[in-house]
Amino acid sequence: MSTWKITFAGGAQMPTGSNFLVELAGKKILIDCGLVQGEKYSIPLNREEFAYGAGTVDFLFITHAHLDHVGRIPKLVRDGFKGKIISTAPTREMAELIMLDSMGILAKEAKHENASQLYEEKDVFDAMKLWDTIIEYQKSYTIETENGAISVTPHDAGHILGSTMYVIEYQGKKVAFTGDLGNTPSPLMNDTDGIANIDYLIMESVYGDRNHKDKDKRIEIFKEAVTSTIKKGGTVLIPAFSIERTQEMLLAFNELVESKQIPEVPVYLDSPLGINITSIYKKYESWFNDDIKKIIKSGDDIFNFKGLIKTPAPDDSKAINHDNRPKVIIAGSGMSNGGRILHHEARYLPDPNSTIIIAGYQSVGTLGRRIVEKEKEVYIHGEKVKVNARLVNIHGFSAHKDSDHLVEFVGQMAPHLKKVFVVLGEPKSAYFLGQKIHEEYQVPVVIPEKGDIVEIE
Ligand SMILES: [Zn+2]
Repeated sequence: MSTWKITFAGGAQMPTGSNFLVELAGKKILIDCGLVQGEKYSIPLNREEFAYGAGTVDFLFITHAHLDHVGRIPKLVRDGFKGKIISTAPTREMAELIMLDSMGILAKEAKHENASQLYEEKDVFDAMKLWDTIIEYQKSYTIETENGAISVTPHDAGHILGSTMYVIEYQGKKVAFTGDLGNTPSPLMNDTDGIANIDYLIMESVYGDRNHKDKDKRIEIFKEAVTSTIKKGGTVLIPAFSIERTQEMLLAFNELVESKQIPEVPVYLDSPLGINITSIYKKYESWFNDDIKKIIKSGDDIFNFKGLIKTPAPDDSKAINHDNRPKVIIAGSGMSNGGRILHHEARYLPDPNSTIIIAGYQSVGTLGRRIVEKEKEVYIHGEKVKVNARLVNIHGFSAHKDSDHLVEFVGQMAPHLKKVFVVLGEPKSAYFLGQKIHEEYQVPVVIPEKGDIVEIE
């Protein structure tokens, strides 16, 4: 019998910083190497040494391109990792843009801390040289060892373009890592794959304690928020993640504008990263679900509509300031912890005729979280800003499964499961979900802490 050793190196009792190590048959296999974001101690946590030794890792499998799953890869490479990085093709392509884009925030942090930068461009390019892509879901990747083969099978997580769950199988035992799980059904992505005969499950819990009650009505709520703001002559601000959220917003506007359900006003996509990621989405249209592929086939350019203005150049972005018409601004970052959205928030949050639409998870410690918690005054670039704008929080646009659907996801494999490890969520979320899973299926549940090591015989 071979022993599996799993180290919860990151993403334990925390939604970000995903980093799990599997030691098996003499091989060290990492799942994700993400940045800790938003937490009070994120800067020192991101700077920590990799306790397992970066140079000793053989394989790094990446679940998806979000920064909290890829953001420490360049540091891993800088610290001596020489193994193979493996992901789907869109994940590889988007991750490169995401890591390069994070350089701005990292430089700012370094300056603030009077320390050297976490990594540099060169480290990103070095990482890309080690990065292979898997061709398709459900096709196993084999790692040969002296004691037989380990197979790693990618499954569609349905979270964002290219997102993957990994099932590691060795000598008849299966351990699954979910990464982030999609809010199925999604307007663009396929449904989360079913996985079966799993012995140990390591699963996310970002929305472990909440349901997306408004999912069915999300387009209605969105439409009302946009229409009423335009009527008042205000501006609609949408802080949007560059991956998936931006494309879903463009798709929503495409449908609503073209069916004349909302008036035609300027819709600024003020995000160079969002613009580039949208091009990658277009390139990988074949990865979308059948419904949306049918719409594309009928001739609709799904991320484009009358009124859309893309402003990649800084000068074009600044020019938005002189547009006094009612309008919409979609900009990054999605949690308002940097990026161009901050300039627009400083200008429009004090305006009672304007609206801010929050359509995704907001980490503790970010400006977005303060806005969601209805703080009346916030600080942007060191200046006090009053929040008079209307807040519309739409959970249904989330790219994550909600609490009930996370429980349901476990159901399909429950009869076979020996244990569930709940990770990638705030503690209250992880504990709540763990309790629900245990009550529903009587499966043992563990909520590991960062640094915990478990051995499976
Ligand atoms: Zn994610």
